[in-house]
Amino acid sequence: MGAKRTKYLFTTGGVVSSIGKGLASASIGALLEARGLRVTHVKLDPYINVDPGTMSPYQHGEVYVTDDGAETDLDLGHYERFTNARMTRANNLTTGKIYQAVISKERRGEYLGATVQVIPHITDEIKARLLEATAGVDVAIVEIGGTVGDIESLPFLEAVRQLKLELGPTNAVSVHVTLVPYISAASELKTKPTQHSVKELREIGIQPDILLCRTDRPLDRAVKEKISLFANVPVDGVISALDVACLYELPGLFHAEGLDELLCERLNIWSRQPDMAPWQRLVERFTRPTRGTAVIAVVGKYVHLRDSYKSLHEALVHGAIANDCRVDLRYVDSETLEKTDAAGVAEALADCHAILVPGGFGERGTEGKITAIRYAREKALPFFGICLGMQLAVAEFARHVAGIEHANSAEFDPRAPAVIDLMPEQRAVREKGATMRLGAYPCVLEKGSLAHEAYGTLEISERHRHRYEVNNDFREALVSKGLVLSGTSPDKRLVEVVELPNHPYFLGCQFHPELKSRPMTGHPLFVRFVKAALDHALGRLAPRGREERPSPAPGPTVHSVH
Ligand code: GLN
Repeated sequence: MGAKRTKYLFTTGGVVSSIGKGLASASIGALLEARGLRVTHVKLDPYINVDPGTMSPYQHGEVYVTDDGAETDLDLGHYERFTNARMTRANNLTTGKIYQAVISKERRGEYLGATVQVIPHITDEIKARLLEATAGVDVAIVEIGGTVGDIESLPFLEAVRQLKLELGPTNAVSVHVTLVPYISAASELKTKPTQHSVKELREIGIQPDILLCRTDRPLDRAVKEKISLFANVPVDGVISALDVACLYELPGLFHAEGLDELLCERLNIWSRQPDMAPWQRLVERFTRPTRGTAVIAVVGKYVHLRDSYKSLHEALVHGAIANDCRVDLRYVDSETLEKTDAAGVAEALADCHAILVPGGFGERGTEGKITAIRYAREKALPFFGICLGMQLAVAEFARHVAGIEHANSAEFDPRAPAVIDLMPEQRAVREKGATMRLGAYPCVLEKGSLAHEAYGTLEISERHRHRYEVNNDFREALVSKGLVLSGTSPDKRLVEVVELPNHPYFLGCQFHPELKSRPMTGHPLFVRFVKAALDHALGRLAPRGREERPSPAPGPTVHSVH
């Protein structure tokens, strides 16, 4: 019995970068799943880095970590949020990874004396890995990074061209995402950039089957016909990809444009009509929440580049949807908190109902984050610290509650008492750059803790990306002053969650829960944190362990600092 054959959809992008190929691919995945199909995704990135782990967030945006510990492109986050496909290191291929594999084969003499070339050796490696990563599903959605016309993406596009030919027209389709800008001086949607971009794609041998046209207004029939004529794409394959206020509107919009029907027809797939009700409900809850707004300060270093907190942003949105409220996110640059006095800090955080300190690397801005954490702890403002945010919460507690002067992470001050440090076995390899803890690790929660309450279970698994850990030499000193280590590794050696019992909501975790948050359900820690923020906004924030007070209670609020 032969295995079922996987069908392929290749997504390319034209005209400009950041055109939304990732979200379009993820939305197509969601639509096909809604029709009962099994999908997976692959991202092909043309850069020469082996993975984005070494790139600055300013260059690349967030590094998305998979369960198996791969550092990948942030589009894999979109794929996991929109579909049930689970991503692994095999789902993100880069030029660096492909060349590394080909060059090591060459060194081992595996090419038997051949001259090793882009075609066929590089393209064969791309195709082999692609087919391996996508075996066993109904449809694989393969996104090619970059913009058509870039030199770097040529080998990937050539591999796609070959695959389309080898697989045959009912097994592979090409979807090209392009831009159709509205030029107000002419009061017209302009199709020329799309025409040029398709021309470029056809020059390298790929005729697109479907065009997703990014636009701020629906394309009318005449515009679609014009694009169809010049691009050699049937008019029903010219689809409006409208700008949306909520990302999760995209699957519904594409469905309304007939995209899933068309794809199934082209790929000769029999499937049911999709059930779009869950997506509609999600958008409805996002658009019209009934319980008000929680203002959350995100105190970080990369606040000027939203892409570096992509999953975090989405996880907070999911938390809001689950609480039937809106979140108003205030990105606060931690360095500005360092340059101001207590009044300035109070002012910067004044209308916020909760504070979140996300992950990060490097010393810059860390003292500002500690200031924000202290503010949250002392003013009984809900606090959520993630990875670096948790490590700094431990340092703050050590300094100001446990009396360990100048306590810090060894990452930032090698002379200070290192409440956060490399584990002894890592210290031995410090010179070589200690290894990161990457990917999924199990964690056991303490019964009755805030974390236990949020998750509703005692055993969890979460994803990590960090080098430093809570230093076990300081555990006793911290615990005796009231820090609760509510989550640890099963062998208890690694501290994974900390919290404060005498505070309405104060929790830090060493892992990155935002990577596993899904729109339909939300992540327990984000749902619970947003609830605390909303309770605060509604004046109902109660100290833990007591009943929620129904109506306006004076309670400890941020406003009391004025
Ligand atoms: N820089 C810290 C570490 O390496 C935290 C990393 C993070 O927040 N992802 O441990």
